[in-house]
Amino acid sequence: LPDVEQLGRATWTFLHTTAAYYPERPTPFQRANMLNLLHSLPVLYPCSHCASHLAEETKRTPPDVSGRVALSRWLCERHNEVNERLGKETFDCAKTDDRWRDGPPD
Ligand code: FAD
Repeated sequence: LPDVEQLGRATWTFLHTTAAYYPERPTPFQRANMLNLLHSLPVLYPCSHCASHLAEETKRTPPDVSGRVALSRWLCERHNEVNERLGKETFDCAKTDDRWRDGPPD
């Protein structure tokens, strides 16, 4: 079985970084592909209880792929739902660019 923590860190890094560099004004093709990426996670993510939580959360709050600011916020909020579920501190979603775009990595 995969290491759920390491997989999680790697996946969040990929998702938040991809959102931080997603276009401000994505083309329909880019939007469609981002939606496919996000909708594929609950199907393929190799931590089945993580995947089923994510499926519920995405159903309740559909992804906003209209631009990088909205997408970064949407992801930040989903990640915060996981943080809360795991008893971790929540992250200030005004700071996603500092963490994932402008600032240095951990
Ligand atoms: P992580 O939560 O991995 O965060 C990595 C870094 O992201 C942090 O150091 C911080 O700088 C930054 N960050 C933190 N919160 C935010 C935010 N809201 N927005 C932007 N940046 C942020 N684990 C389980 O045990 N059970 C689950 O059900 C579960 N579901 C998951 C679902 C998904 C879709 C993913 C990707 C992961 C899931 N995980 C789950 C793994 C879990 O979220 C963590 O990745 C793992 O516990 C390691 O946590 P961490 O404290 O190292 O930091």
